[in-house]
Amino acid sequence: MPIPPPRPGPATVVSSAPGPTQSIALTIDDGYCEECVGGYVAFVERSGIPITFSPNAIYQKVWTPYADRLRPLIEAGQVQIGNHTYHHDSLVKASDATIRSELERNDEWIQHTFGITSRPWLRPPFGYRNAHTDSVAAGLGYTKIVMWNGSFGDSGLLAADVLLGEADKWLRAGTIMLGHANAPTVLGLFDQIRAIMAERRLQPVTLDTMFGTSRATG
Ligand SMILES: [Zn+2]
Repeated sequence: MPIPPPRPGPATVVSSAPGPTQSIALTIDDGYCEECVGGYVAFVERSGIPITFSPNAIYQKVWTPYADRLRPLIEAGQVQIGNHTYHHDSLVKASDATIRSELERNDEWIQHTFGITSRPWLRPPFGYRNAHTDSVAAGLGYTKIVMWNGSFGDSGLLAADVLLGEADKWLRAGTIMLGHANAPTVLGLFDQIRAIMAERRLQPVTLDTMFGTSRATG
């Protein structure tokens, strides 16, 4: 699929599904733990569950070996790749030139590695953003700024019962759920997470599916 050019426009900040739905978007960020990225890739392969990953290119040695397995899932629309910047530094105190370079260099790696653009989706590192960072990003075609309204709380290492408690609390209809491929606790809980979603009749989807965006138009 050809990579579409950037489509700058006004920024929209989203943190949950638009309107009533049984959909839920699992969004998994960062990826500095090799075992965790590998575990997530195996999980999407065996489960068929859609996930949006937002990796940082600074961790490309972890992600790139999985590109051949992720590409067919991306082409099938089961996996989506969002932009989370190259270095995972806060954008709020960065210069405009740094913001642009962080987004463009990360997308160059995503395009080269996974064959798609991450536009129009940006997840700001730490969720740190303001109207100015949004507008600089939107000027590059990152018009969808994705926050979250539920989280596994696992940017660092958690005990299994704590993570499962967060899953039980936040896996709800319409949630944009934040998780991380940074610590292995979640790897032992995939079946329980699936069971919670199934019991609540939740329909996991990518951000593209939830918001009607597309890899073909960026
Ligand atoms: Zn992050």
